[in-house]
Amino acid sequence: MGIINLLPENLINQIAAGEVVERPASVVKELIENSIDAEATEIIIDVEDGGRRLIRVSDNGCGMSREDALLSIQRHATSKIREVSDLFNISTLGFRGEALPSIASVSKLRLTTVPKGSTFGTSIRVEGGKELEVIDSGGPVGTSMEVRELFFNTPARLKFMKSTTTEMSHITSTVTRMAISYPYIRFIYNHNGSQIYNLPSSKDLLSRICKLIREDDKNLIEVSLNSKISVSGYVSGPEINRPTQRETYIFVNGRFVRDRVVLHAVMDAYRTVMEKDRYPLAFLFLDVPPMDVDVNVHPAKTEVRFRNTDEIHRAVYAAVSEALKGWTARKGSGQWSVGTGRSDEFQTPDSNYQDRVSEAIGKYATSNSSAFGPIPSPTLYPSGHKPLKGREFFPLHQGEGQGEGGVVGFFSSLTVLGRVSGTYIICSRGNDLCLIDQHAAHERVAFERLKAIRNDSTPASQTLLIPETVELNPSETGLLKDYTEVLTKAGIELEHFGGNTFVIKAVPTILTRKDVKGLIKDIVDELAHMERSQSLKEIMDRLFSRMACHSAIEGGDYMDPAEIKALLRDLDSIDFSSNCPHGRPVFVMLSQFEIEKMFGRR
Ligand code: ADP
Ligand code: MG
Repeated sequence: MGIINLLPENLINQIAAGEVVERPASVVKELIENSIDAEATEIIIDVEDGGRRLIRVSDNGCGMSREDALLSIQRHATSKIREVSDLFNISTLGFRGEALPSIASVSKLRLTTVPKGSTFGTSIRVEGGKELEVIDSGGPVGTSMEVRELFFNTPARLKFMKSTTTEMSHITSTVTRMAISYPYIRFIYNHNGSQIYNLPSSKDLLSRICKLIREDDKNLIEVSLNSKISVSGYVSGPEINRPTQRETYIFVNGRFVRDRVVLHAVMDAYRTVMEKDRYPLAFLFLDVPPMDVDVNVHPAKTEVRFRNTDEIHRAVYAAVSEALKGWTARKGSGQWSVGTGRSDEFQTPDSNYQDRVSEAIGKYATSNSSAFGPIPSPTLYPSGHKPLKGREFFPLHQGEGQGEGGVVGFFSSLTVLGRVSGTYIICSRGNDLCLIDQHAAHERVAFERLKAIRNDSTPASQTLLIPETVELNPSETGLLKDYTEVLTKAGIELEHFGGNTFVIKAVPTILTRKDVKGLIKDIVDELAHMERSQSLKEIMDRLFSRMACHSAIEGGDYMDPAEIKALLRDLDSIDFSSNCPHGRPVFVMLSQFEIEKMFGRR
């Protein structure tokens, strides 16, 4: 007697559901895709309790005959492909014939459908994959899929579901992607009876995008490249950016995908115009000949494989760069043009950099002035020699960095020679050269200050003279509501004003001069990426790091000699002064030896 069994159909479906139906948002995605494939022009999504209790997607698409409706919940039943060759020429969103049987096997499903040209139709009830009822039904042409109690018969999966807020935020992201991808379809999306989106059918992609992400259309630049691979859509100017790539939307032949090659190409186009670790808004539609892209590499179809990735990279890079070039010219200020915003001239010379940093700190941080010997005179460039364009130099009096009682910290002991690219402070120490990133340095100081206060109490906060109102989207609203208490601890006082509006009443003193709205947006983004399991300390650290970034002086901002001096002193007063809170270096040392090596003298 053998020990190998053929698995029963329902078990196979449940296994497939493990891949296709990861969470409520995956159900929403599959159902909307089916409605789009059925050529619906209106899709209504009703969700209760983050999709745990109910997900209902109703459309005015072509509907199904009774025969088809019964087949649709069978495994590998699809109207979209017939033979192998079809697999390489797919123009629909679905094709695997897996979604409905998978969903039906792990939920209580009611499918109601009326086919085109008919006034009556069919209603089918399935529970945990078992067909319970097939009856006549009436109503308008189209299909309604009602999924109740997802994972009711798979306790392990049920346990993995996150809070209503989290699940809802995933569903909102899914609906958002679909709505961006199909502006001509009217979308209505309700959660627990309240309307979240009501998006009229529109020919205009830009207005659909702006409605969804609440961004001014003036901040988006059109992208348009027509070649074998066409790239169209919108990207943001470099000054509108986010701390994550969450708002980089890529659609390949109408399908939302996460693709490393495309993401990389987008970032490459922004490399010289945007601060590191910031990401643009992007809504890019790639039209690739179906022959050149394999969409059948992932059960949830969120990944694709391109036949020629170089070609894709080149097209996306060219399209986005071209759009940005036009934008730079339009802005006229030259501020964003390549090369002046940041300098690539001083790169970390080698990977031993960290070691040298620790060594430098270890050697000097606790020393006093006598151990240094005389502080060398500033090495000024020859008189009469004009500074290069975009650079500014000014000498500081030697020995200015000396602290009280003759104890000089490492940073205070540096002789400041000037600044380059408006961002890097150039210093010498003996015969060595030291470059300091003013933003990273400032950020680290602010971060340590915020953290130090936390150890005692809440950071000193200051009531805003005019409270700021911030508009968020529904899932962001949920997040901010959940974390209100934590934010109060971090010194941010806010109040839910109703709807998706918050009023910011107070922020930590160190932030009062800065863009409060931008800060709240960044904080929400940070919260969205936080795991529920994170400790309060981790959460606070991440919030403080975000706040520090906001309070810090920017690369490119002017700093006068006194401010530089104060910054160096501040650096001496904190721990971890070698890197900013995001891990980027605060300063780079080049020893005389290394400089000589560069000039071939060694
Ligand atoms: P796939 O979309 O991969 O074909 P599904 O399991 O999602 O597989 O759906 C099976 C079939 O059911 C589809 O091929 C389609 O013919 C039919 N179907 C599903 N949803 C709808 C709908 N909303 N309107 C009309 N037909 C539908
Ligand atoms: Mg489908």
